Amino acid sequence: MTQKNKGTTDGLPYAMRDKRILQKDQKFRFACHAGLPCFNTCCGDVNILLTPLDVLRLSRSRGLATGEFLSRHTLSPFTKELHLPVLLLKMNDDEDKRCPFLAEQGCGVYGDRPWSCRMYPLGMGLPPARAGVEPEPVYFLFADDFCAGRDESTEWTVQTWLADQGITARENLEEGYREIVSHPWFIGGRQLEPRRIELFHMAFYNLDKFREFIFDSTFLDRFELEDDLVEQLRDGDEALLKFASRWLRFALFAEPTMKVRESASEAGLSEQDGS
Ligand code: SF4
Ligand code: SF4
Repeated sequence: MTQKNKGTTDGLPYAMRDKRILQKDQKFRFACHAGLPCFNTCCGDVNILLTPLDVLRLSRSRGLATGEFLSRHTLSPFTKELHLPVLLLKMNDDEDKRCPFLAEQGCGVYGDRPWSCRMYPLGMGLPPARAGVEPEPVYFLFADDFCAGRDESTEWTVQTWLADQGITARENLEEGYREIVSHPWFIGGRQLEPRRIELFHMAFYNLDKFREFIFDSTFLDRFELEDDLVEQLRDGDEALLKFASRWLRFALFAEPTMKVRESASEAGLSEQDGS
């Protein structure tokens, strides 16, 4: 039965309007496993959106620096409707356009598979930002005819699926990204200037470059950071990813999330992005 949540679909992408919207405790049936006629056929010619955590985990599991991973494995299509850049996983350049990580037995990067791959057959949308309102994700169910997993008997709720797929466990590291992309600053269609978009791209997607930016520039002369945090940022990827959203709130939206050193202010070094 199709259920529309009329209170939450307003302003969501048009593509979601004919989907079955699910509350977190609502049930659906699904299982994906070898033996299904469709097994391994859906991992090709598909748009897999990558989150910053996806880029980090896949880079590390491939033994690549984040910049190298970005140039080898991602595309960043430009569309005027988007206020921030998105990253897509680059499919192979052959007839089937298969995912480069697809193996005989299924996903070859299963433990580090992207958020979109974990979510399927669910999708998630965020309503447009509204001042003073925390955007609540809206979940919906894809109804792809090619997917035989929809006829399996295993029953899930949104909640149990998110937990089973490790999405709930990642939330702590993903929330900063989600808060930035749905930030109320964008209300009314405001656009960031190109320099700020570059900062977003570096801090969230190219973490190795962001680390260099912190440690090989005057960043630490400009901003006052707790000593133990500085040490975590030196070696800790997840600490750095969390810090990226704190710094971007300052650099993109002038939120008071960073403390500018007095000496930097006096010397005129307090430019918002610290670059
Ligand atoms: S990353 Fe894995 S699950 Fe995702 S499209 Fe590629 S092979 Fe399929
Ligand atoms: S089409 Fe559905 S069931 Fe088949 S492999 Fe893909 S996700 Fe699994």
